This record gives sequence, structure tokens and C-alpha cells, in this order.
Amino acid sequence: MSMLNKKTIEDINVSGKKVLVRCDFNVPLKEGVITDENRLNGALPTIKYLIEKGARVILCSHLGKPKGEAKPELSLAPVAKRLSEMLGKEVVFAADDNVVGENAKDAVSKMNDGDVVLLQNTRYRKEETKNEETFSKELASLAEVFVNDAFGTAHRAHCSTVGAGEFLQERACGYLIQKELKFLGEAVENPVRPFTAILGGAKVSDKIAVINELLEKVDNLIIGGGMAYTFLKAQGYEIGTSLVEEEKIEYAKEMMEKAKAKGVKLLLPIDNAISNAFADNERQVTNDANIPEGFMGLDIGPKTIDEYVKAVKESKTIVWNGPMGVFEFKNFSEGTLAVAKAMADLTDATTVIGGGDSAAAVNILGFGDKMTHVSTGGGASLEFLEGKELPGIVALDNK
Ligand code: AMP
Repeated sequence: MSMLNKKTIEDINVSGKKVLVRCDFNVPLKEGVITDENRLNGALPTIKYLIEKGARVILCSHLGKPKGEAKPELSLAPVAKRLSEMLGKEVVFAADDNVVGENAKDAVSKMNDGDVVLLQNTRYRKEETKNEETFSKELASLAEVFVNDAFGTAHRAHCSTVGAGEFLQERACGYLIQKELKFLGEAVENPVRPFTAILGGAKVSDKIAVINELLEKVDNLIIGGGMAYTFLKAQGYEIGTSLVEEEKIEYAKEMMEKAKAKGVKLLLPIDNAISNAFADNERQVTNDANIPEGFMGLDIGPKTIDEYVKAVKESKTIVWNGPMGVFEFKNFSEGTLAVAKAMADLTDATTVIGGGDSAAAVNILGFGDKMTHVSTGGGASLEFLEGKELPGIVALDNK
């Protein structure tokens, strides 16, 4: 795959050079405090390496969706402060509302080798998400070489992820992207078998491409979450008021046939945890896959949990994207918890969590460290698993 042969920061000369580094500092903030530091931790190895090599490190990132305006609540100032603490070294914050302004130019001109500057939120500029040359050139004018380490936005062609690099001498990926590509890439391209994919979450329509692609590769495909009910309906079961996409029933049938033709074991719920409303009500359980009138499936049932956990235990490579139920409701978090725990307990298997809600769930449950890899990019890892080329990676130099 063309994305797996890219230059890394170790392949380029960074010493004494001004290096523009696109990071993923899109962190959750509550009243100016960062509530989840996973993405900051993910960025540290690259920043530390560049400091050690005596590069002049110019960091940039987006935060939230300011839609081309300077929104003070989406300033990267709290990130500069926290990064300074984490690195034990000052990260100078260039507080320009237009990102590349006098503050940024001044801060960069004062840099010594090994210094770090953080630019303001790149999405303060409306050109950013359109990958317009004006802003790309401004960003590039600050530096000599480009490093992309923002896996979370690698599926987007923006000025800071693609455009700016085009006007610099060299383009390489950082350690985080390298790690993401290694684990996601190995899992998909060269998995130790049995290879099991677990897909959940709300909608079939979000996962169409990934179901189709994974059926070419896996030994087992486990389906849970809201998307399972479209499959159950396609099998002829009663699903009550569960989430369903009528227009995807035919597709679900096709996928069931494809699984059969490819010899892939497709696991669907054989019982359900249900409620009479979309609320954290008492957990009731069905005897089989059928759901009575007036009830909706909000989690996989106990027999299904046993079956899915058994399949997980027998696997050597597992990729998971999307919760097994409405895990935000305590009474319907059991399925998601059981799958997470079964994966965390495995000692001789490769376990990869494909970002988004499942990564958040695994981290909240404290299982993050027990997985081989927890991806920092929900959308990006899904597109990777769909077999798509990610523009932020394609744009980097080949080795
Ligand atoms: P996604 O972003 O596609 O991974 O979907 C995650 C969301 O799907 C979570 O917020 C879950 O609450 C929701 N979800 C999971 N299972 C169900 C279900 N059975 N019914 C409705 N929503 C669900």
C-alpha cells in the first residue's frame, strides 16, 4: 500500500531547521481545562525527538470547529500551557487571530535550536478546511520542512495537513502517524489469524464501506450496537422500535450472502437487552433475537455476550470500531464492557481499537494500556480500514 512507505522524521535532516509540525491537539476542553490528555501524550514522542535533534519546532493544530473565525473559547493557549508542563520546557504561544501574523513571525524569528512555538488554531482561518493556497503558503513561509503527526485529521486535505507541505523542502510523518500506520496496517494487511473485526455504533450507513472491505479480509465479523437491528430485520426477526434503516435491509442481506460466499463467520445478536424507551431504564432481556412490540434493543444480551467473548478469546488479531450498545446508559453498557474486557485480557493477540467512541469507552474503563494500540483517529482509522488512501499521508514523501 502506498501509504506504508513514507518518510519518517528519522529519514530527514531536521537539525537547526525550522520544522512545521501538524499535531492533533483537538482535545476536549471544559472551562479552559483539558479533560482528556491522550492526544497530547500521543504527540510528545515526535516533539521530544525534534527538540533533541536541535530542530526549531513550530507546532500547529486545529481545535474544534471555529469555522474560519477567531473564537476565544477555541484558542490553543491552554494546550501551550499544558505542553510546557509536560515537556518541562517553555512552549511559546503565538496568539495571532489570523494564525500567521506578527506574533508568529516574531516568535519564530527569535527561536534558537531546540525551541518550541505553538501557532493559534488553524481553523481560525476560513481557507484552512478548503486547502487554499494563500494560507498554505503563509504557514509554509515560517518553516523549511514539514512533519505531519496528526492522524486524527489525516483523512482531510487541509492547508495544515496537505497544502503547506507542498511549499516546503521535505515532508515526513511523525512517530504517532508511524505507529498508527504500523498497527492498523499490519492488522489489515498481514494479520495473524484468526482475524476478527467487531463493528458497532449507531448506523449501518456509516459503516457500509468498512463492512464490505473487512469481509474481504477477516475470518469473523461481529456486529453489535444499533446497526445490528437492520441485520436482524433482514433475517426476518421482529425488532420492535429498535433503530433500523429500512433502506439498508437489502444491503444487509447482500453482506450476509457475501460473508457466506467468502467463508467469513458473521456473528449477529442472538438475544438483546431492551427497554420500552430510549432511556437508562431497567435492563430487560429477550429469549432470542426477537424484540417484542413497543421495546427497543439498546445492548446485546447475555447469550450474545458469551458468544462474542468466546470469539474474541479465540482470535489472534482483533480490530474494534463502535460500541455494542448505548454504553452511555449504565444499564446498557454491559456488552461494550464485556467485549473491551475480553480484548484487554488477551495476552498473545494483537488488539486494535479504531478510535472514536470505542477508544473513549476503552480509555474510560481503564483498558487503554492493555490494548496493543488505541487509535487517536476515529474517522481516519475507519477510512483506513475501508481501504481508502488518507490525503494527509499520501502527500508525504516516499522513502
Ligand atoms: P458511532 O458513532 O457510529 O460509533 O455510534 C456510537 C453511538 O451509537 C453511541 O453514542 C451509542 O449510544 C449508539 N448506539 C449503540 N448502540 C445503540 C442502540 N442499540 N440503539 C441506539 N443507539 C446505539
